[in-house]
Amino acid sequence: MKDWSEFPVMSRKCDYCGTVNSGQTFWAHERMLGTGKKFELWRCSLCKSVILLDPPSDLSQYYPPSYYSFRQKHQGDFLGRKLLVSALSRGLARRANMTMLSGFLCQSQLVVLAEFVLESRVDREKSSLVDVGSGSGDLLTYASALHFQSLTGLDAFIPNDILRSDGVAVKRGTLKEVTGEKDLIMFNHSFEHFENPLGTLREVHRILSPKGLCMIRVPVAGSQASEYYKSDWVQLDVPRHLTIPSERGLRECARAAGLELLKVWYDSGPFQFKGSNQNARRSVESVESESSRTELKEYGPKMFDIGYRIMAAKLNNRKAGDQAAFIFRTANH
Ligand SMILES: [Zn+2]
Repeated sequence: MKDWSEFPVMSRKCDYCGTVNSGQTFWAHERMLGTGKKFELWRCSLCKSVILLDPPSDLSQYYPPSYYSFRQKHQGDFLGRKLLVSALSRGLARRANMTMLSGFLCQSQLVVLAEFVLESRVDREKSSLVDVGSGSGDLLTYASALHFQSLTGLDAFIPNDILRSDGVAVKRGTLKEVTGEKDLIMFNHSFEHFENPLGTLREVHRILSPKGLCMIRVPVAGSQASEYYKSDWVQLDVPRHLTIPSERGLRECARAAGLELLKVWYDSGPFQFKGSNQNARRSVESVESESSRTELKEYGPKMFDIGYRIMAAKLNNRKAGDQAAFIFRTANH
């Protein structure tokens, strides 16, 4: 596999750390819809954040109605609510070492949500929770068991507003249209779908209440998987992911928007290896003939992806997993 030093370079301003530098350019294929279209990316040579260089003018064709987050899958199933409430009430997630735990749980987003609410110490009955890029609002439905004063989803890509039976309201729109103060704001793998991360974080700063917290769950560039797999890293997900921050890049961007990083929880899982290896195999297949095809190494036993899960948990503990939850508050507390 090529080293980063062998890629062409281009000078531009990094959307995250804000410096002008000669970062590497590389190409990646659209994989989720199977179009195979190629898109060019730029990797900041200082903070290692990754930027999609020329996003298509009409991205809606890459978000078909069947896109996973628009499907109303759950009304908040019993097990999910129980897990969340139990994790919250007993502080289970914190004691059991959240980063290790999430590597083994299939619904890590519930543990992270519980941990976020615990961290905030807000009086939930007087507090608001906003999920930016909520899709049809499934995650908020789980939160409805926690008795928040208001639960609002926000998504620019849904066809129309949704009012769910559990009181969750999902609005078609962006942060710019939000008025008034909000106590908890979260982005669950949506931040990377927005252009202009600094502008988005400034909007967060504008509406975040003085003691409020913002959680951003994102893929992390500069992680071991992103640096190793490069254009085959599964979380590049071109052209839907417009920018992917490194920890350093996101921290510096947030600081420029008046926010400070309070905590980081790495919660990567087996997908970083499984998905990226699959991409790598497809890349090899597209350039090599059947006879010279190389079989890429698979790690660990296949059953339950135990090998991958252990590797992910180890990376999370070293803050080197390929996704994390970053908790921010207003600076100068
Ligand atoms: Zn940078």
